[in-house]
Amino acid sequence: MEKISVGVRFRPSTSSPHSDSSHQWQISDNAISLCHLNTPISGYTFAFDHVFDESLGNAVVYRVLIKSIIDAAIDGFNGTAFAYGQTSSGKTYTMNGSEMDPGIIPLAIKDIFDTIHKTSEREFLIRVSYMEIYNEEINDLLVLESQKLPIHENLERGVYVAGIREEIVSNAEQVLQLLKLGEENRHFGETNMNARSSRSHTIFRMVIESRAKEEDSFKEDTITDAVRVSVLNLVDLAGSERIAKTGAEGVRLKEGKHINKSLMVLGNVINKLSEGGKQRGHIPYRDSKLTRILQPALGGNAKTSIICTVAPEDVHVEETRGTLQFASRAKRITNCVQVNEILTDAALLKRQKLEIEELRKKLMGSHSEVLEQVLLKQRNDMHKSELERDRLATELEEERKARYALEHRILEQEKKIENIMNLSVSAHFSSACSQKKVGERSATPDEAHFLAFDHIKTPNFKCPSIDFVVRRPSYKELESSPIPDNFADVADEDLWTRLNKGCVTDLEAFQMTPPLPVQEFPSSETSLVVPSNEELQAKNYERLEEDLHDVRKQCEALKEQYSKLEEENNILKEEKIGLTDDVACLENEINQVKSEKQVVLKELKEEKRKLNDLREEVRRLITTFSQKEGMLTSLYSKSRAFVENTKTAPIAPHE
Ligand code: ADP
Ligand code: MG
Repeated sequence: MEKISVGVRFRPSTSSPHSDSSHQWQISDNAISLCHLNTPISGYTFAFDHVFDESLGNAVVYRVLIKSIIDAAIDGFNGTAFAYGQTSSGKTYTMNGSEMDPGIIPLAIKDIFDTIHKTSEREFLIRVSYMEIYNEEINDLLVLESQKLPIHENLERGVYVAGIREEIVSNAEQVLQLLKLGEENRHFGETNMNARSSRSHTIFRMVIESRAKEEDSFKEDTITDAVRVSVLNLVDLAGSERIAKTGAEGVRLKEGKHINKSLMVLGNVINKLSEGGKQRGHIPYRDSKLTRILQPALGGNAKTSIICTVAPEDVHVEETRGTLQFASRAKRITNCVQVNEILTDAALLKRQKLEIEELRKKLMGSHSEVLEQVLLKQRNDMHKSELERDRLATELEEERKARYALEHRILEQEKKIENIMNLSVSAHFSSACSQKKVGERSATPDEAHFLAFDHIKTPNFKCPSIDFVVRRPSYKELESSPIPDNFADVADEDLWTRLNKGCVTDLEAFQMTPPLPVQEFPSSETSLVVPSNEELQAKNYERLEEDLHDVRKQCEALKEQYSKLEEENNILKEEKIGLTDDVACLENEINQVKSEKQVVLKELKEEKRKLNDLREEVRRLITTFSQKEGMLTSLYSKSRAFVENTKTAPIAPHE
């Protein structure tokens, strides 16, 4: 378990040194107190892991608070550093810095590449992405067209932004270029407080993959180590702001509200997390995009540092206090950090890519620099097409869902049309019936009333058997009936239903029934006269025709929309096929390189064998040579001795 480390940084004051402010923030070691005429005010004293006064530059903040996170990220631990504070308190200055005083992001990039170039025993693969959250929407800062990206979550990748561009990089300059590109796309606005105040939260992300290098490059199948994958987030938050103070309105006001909302959610998440243990309860990560993306950093597997930037001026005392309270709560959070080692297929694939690179380098020898560039591009393309494939799959899924919803709606509309058609048919039929009834047996008033209403029920209407319906009491029975006092002379269908308790239960059927005109009871006490049937039918029929017309129109519009969507879907499908082909081509290439590798390895083995044979031969020759040399040497010494002897031996006189 590891606590989030929290540092507070004061930026230089912008008010003149002679301005008489009665309050000052005083720093002693790692504690800060607000003093009034040099006396600390109670409730305004805070202690942190580190406090940086205005004289300290970015390099010190980096060394003290951030460097350990960067080192850990290279070793496979997730890491997050973010700057929090009110607008114009120095967040962007801390993260990006200036030319003279580079900020945490450039310092981290330099550090990472310096370290990995020195680490000879491991190989690294680094990807970077740069995004912003502007008005609760995620935009890719490296690709202007990639806006409003969705957040997804799955077991293998955890929480991730779908469709974001990830660039594979091999040196610090390349990353700085990408940062510059992203910076240009960032939303800047103008408030009264800070002319270039950043209006969005930005997340600069590096994914660092590494694996141990192989000792013996001739041996195959020696890949036993796992790939370490760590994610490093460097976050520059938009400033919290008091709208009254900044004087924002219109678009600025909307931005401000979004910024404040997401910071409030961040505060809530921090509050909950700082409670710890069982009291924690539900953590509202999903309430904002910011907390959702930073979820692993805030309450999970990541080393995290927060730099709270504050402004020293008197006018900002309340904001500074708010920031310090946030920092105090954040200090209580603990995370559970561990190295991320991956042995899944995805990581194996990555390993394969590294392997290809290594092999190519070996094959091409001295041209490696040019080839590295080509290789980098190829790998980037491959990675991009993988990402594109992911994005397309997500889009396709969404399209499918939309299509399903549309089909469902069309079906519903068709049902409605059918119902209405049936109704109109039944209206004709009913009208015909009632005409026929003239002069025939006189229906009882109840039956006649029921018939008059029968034509407006929907086909789903569960028609009660006429015998089962409690007969409407005649006026003679009125005294004993349950009709309420306020019944007056009017009864609507609701009341009618209630009075017939339970006989008509299909409420849905009633909901689908068009509103009925109120039926007036006759003033005569003796019998109920059926309301003018033809008039009623004609009106209802007219209304139904209108409804039918509307529904048809809606249906046509829906059908049009549907066919458009289908067209788009087809285009997407084609694109997907194209991309799949590309991926297949790339895979073919990989396979080709693999087979090349096999051939080269075979040749190398053969060469090695021949070399060994030659060595053996040479060794044998050397042995023979040295034996012969020995023999010759002894022969030579013998003959010399003989010559010496011969020289010194007295010559016997010839007799
Ligand atoms: P924020 O990102 O918090 O809104 P900025 O980083 O843009 O604020 O800082 C506001 C202004 O203050 C900028 O002009 C910046 O250069 C300056 N500033 C902030 N912090 C420092 C610092 N530590 N040293 C020098 N200048 C600073
Ligand atoms: Mg800023």
